[in-house]
Amino acid sequence: YDLRNEDFRDMQELGQGNGGSVKKVEHVPTGTIMAKKIVLIDAKPSVRKQILRELQIMHDCNSEYIISFYGAFISDPNICICMEFMDKGSLDGIYKKIGAIDIDVVAKVALAVLEGLTYLYDVHRIIHRDIKPSNILFNSQGQIKICDFGVSGELINSIADTFVGTSTYMSPERIQGAQYTVKSDVWSLGISLIELALGRFPFSDSDGDSDLSDFEGTLSPSRPLPPKRTQEEKDKKKKRKSKGVSLQGGGMTMSILELLQHIVNEPAPRLTPEGRFPKEADDFVDSCLLKEPDARKTPKDLLKHPWIEHARTTNFDLEAWASTF
Ligand code: ADP
Ligand code: MG
Repeated sequence: YDLRNEDFRDMQELGQGNGGSVKKVEHVPTGTIMAKKIVLIDAKPSVRKQILRELQIMHDCNSEYIISFYGAFISDPNICICMEFMDKGSLDGIYKKIGAIDIDVVAKVALAVLEGLTYLYDVHRIIHRDIKPSNILFNSQGQIKICDFGVSGELINSIADTFVGTSTYMSPERIQGAQYTVKSDVWSLGISLIELALGRFPFSDSDGDSDLSDFEGTLSPSRPLPPKRTQEEKDKKKKRKSKGVSLQGGGMTMSILELLQHIVNEPAPRLTPEGRFPKEADDFVDSCLLKEPDARKTPKDLLKHPWIEHARTTNFDLEAWASTF
């Protein structure tokens, strides 16, 4: 594909993230439906060209567990990344629509993500760096694929310069500034799987009334406040939070700091309550969420876990499941 901005027809807004926005588009000359990600890059032209060069690696990423890549181009001041359109969207959108995801589907998600991560690392030495439900996509053929992996060092730098990203899927060692490894992705997978299986983000702030799955945006209550709290107290708290959110630069709020401290200092979350899910699922999630990275397995090793081997052989019909929503 020779992609030029004027050859696209916008069809639908798919969502907005920290780095930009994603649209469903038609590439008119070929009639191909694509997802076009628009990333605003505040960088010199030379840096933008470098990013574009680095993104070309995605042409070589061919796996059924990885979103395919059509190409990227500069459309000042943006970089546009064109990729395969997944018609059932991302898994965060799915659970927010239909509720907690069936544990058999969650097992298939784990399998697909581990396969995708293993492919990226073994074949291309790429570490994903941003595993979370919104980067795991699903389509009506029942395929599960990962997107938005860190192919371009320059792109990672440019985005990191302009915003503080979603970081609550971040492993304890990353929060403490250690080097990124494939094992950090395994932690993020563990958090994501709990979120899908429970139908909610596994961490809440200390008062338990906010879902802190994202640094940015409003921190709206995700469940009713306890009756003891008066309206006045609520307002105070809201004020404190929104003040924190609007802090420029560091981009951190007290509650975000508390959350990051919680991840580092407290025991990792688990699939609860005990006994609700198969023992092998509990065990798998526990091994993703070992706080010590040396003790945590790699994606490749985790492919041998009994829960994953079972997910591979089971004939659960994801295509049929996809047709239910
Ligand atoms: P984030 O991943 O942080 O939500 P993005 O900008 O990467 O932010 O994506 C915004 C939304 O667009 C995602 O949540 C997802 O639902 C949707 N999306 C991204 N890529 C695709 C795609 N290839 N096909 C369908 N939907 C997509
Ligand atoms: Mg994304």
